[in-house]
Amino acid sequence: MHSLKPTKARTWKSLVSEDNPVLRAVAAPVNMHGADGRTPSMSQSELFRLVNDMLWIMAKNNGVGLAAPQIGVSLRVIVMNCGERYAMIDPVIQRDPRNQQKGMEGCLTFPGKQVEVIRANSVKVSFHDINGKLRQKNFTGLEARCVQHEMDHLDGKLLTDYEYADN
Ligand SMILES: [Zn+2]
Repeated sequence: MHSLKPTKARTWKSLVSEDNPVLRAVAAPVNMHGADGRTPSMSQSELFRLVNDMLWIMAKNNGVGLAAPQIGVSLRVIVMNCGERYAMIDPVIQRDPRNQQKGMEGCLTFPGKQVEVIRANSVKVSFHDINGKLRQKNFTGLEARCVQHEMDHLDGKLLTDYEYADN
């Protein structure tokens, strides 16, 4: 079993610069169990290594979330730590449209930048955990904001897109 404590190691990947086209791509599913007859995009051991790098890079940069495209990997993997660590593989989000939250957001891809973004206040996320188990979690407040921000990355959407928009 993989615990979500990153082991200190030289990381395999690092943050890509903000003009890297990988940040604008729609990331591919990992497809851990080879559902629908498709081959998983990554072996279990590569996935452990990727998640470890992501957790480590997030912690080192004092981030609360990170998506795989931010380190140059165009796969649907996100990590989050707003108090509790999560690694989510192929997450699917359902937003509760009844309550919105308005707040400032940062992003490790744009150090120092803060943009006000309106997000759903509560979301339900289905995902595979690092051990391949299908899970479903409800998040509110900061965790809900964070998950929505990271999910944007998987679809090539960036914080700067909200900068001059009315959300
Ligand atoms: Zn970000």
